[in-house]
Amino acid sequence: MKRKCFKYSLIFLFTAVLIFIDTILSEEASGHYPFIWSLALIPIIYIINMYPKWKVTIGAGVIYSLLKYTTEFSQKIKPDNSEINALILGSLINWSIALTVGYFIIKSHKLYLKVEELTIIDSLTGAYNRRYLELFMERTIPISKRTNSSLVFMILDIDHFKKVNDNYGHQCGDQALKHTSSIIDNHVRNSAGVFVRLGGEEFAVILPNTDLAEGLIIAERIREAVEKTEFIYKNERIHFTISIGVSIYNEETVEEFIEKSDNALYKAKENGRNQIAIIN
Ligand code: GH3
Ligand code: MG
Ligand code: MG
Repeated sequence: MKRKCFKYSLIFLFTAVLIFIDTILSEEASGHYPFIWSLALIPIIYIINMYPKWKVTIGAGVIYSLLKYTTEFSQKIKPDNSEINALILGSLINWSIALTVGYFIIKSHKLYLKVEELTIIDSLTGAYNRRYLELFMERTIPISKRTNSSLVFMILDIDHFKKVNDNYGHQCGDQALKHTSSIIDNHVRNSAGVFVRLGGEEFAVILPNTDLAEGLIIAERIREAVEKTEFIYKNERIHFTISIGVSIYNEETVEEFIEKSDNALYKAKENGRNQIAIIN
């Protein structure tokens, strides 16, 4: 937010300085300096960099063109033809530079988004991955501490998943992972929480502003949905369940917090699977 305010201030400053210089030059030399408006490229490039979209690129160009002509014509009641030609030529040059720079900024931004997606999204399920979990926890834990709000972390693991692979093949195992992922997604989507694939057949759900009782309700809904939702692979009805370990944040490190849910999961497995266990 602070950084954005700083950028807005810079844009405003560059625009104000530009109008100021233009006014001073026209008064002092009473000649025309249309190329001074090339300075408008600086705030325009700042704006495109902040919002790398064609709409914004063209919008910024139009706004600065309007500003230029309003400023120029308000200073000179009757500019002559050569001055008007110089203004238009200056605009054409500036527009072509702005559009070229805009093209490259937009292109590199798309590439950046793609790379970002590749580093935080699991390619099989489309869920976030472990790397994203680290980033999310880094942001969420300080907020949770500051606002003194509770934070639930659960680890979900498919029971006897090895058997699904062994009995129906790895492809079927992959489909089962996608199926489980979409069930978890359906239950987490409407909350402020996120879910990630930790790796293998393990997922994690993080629920900020959620107390243990609410967390357990969501965990139970997911467990029940996996147990009851039919998974069909090549006309075969495949039945599997998940175990869930739940814990609530209590001032520990991220690793200790994750380990707590992991221990809870271990307990759920030990107690016979297809169930939820808590470590408080
Ligand atoms: P438990 O109930 O104790 O969790 O038993 P499990 O069989 O689910 O656990 P185990 O750790 O023994 O086996 C996990 C299996 O998950 C082994 C591995 O082949 C499989 N697996 C891990 N990642 C993938 C994947 O991306 N696709 C498929 N199809 N299988 C995977
Ligand atoms: Mg398992
Ligand atoms: Mg496992």
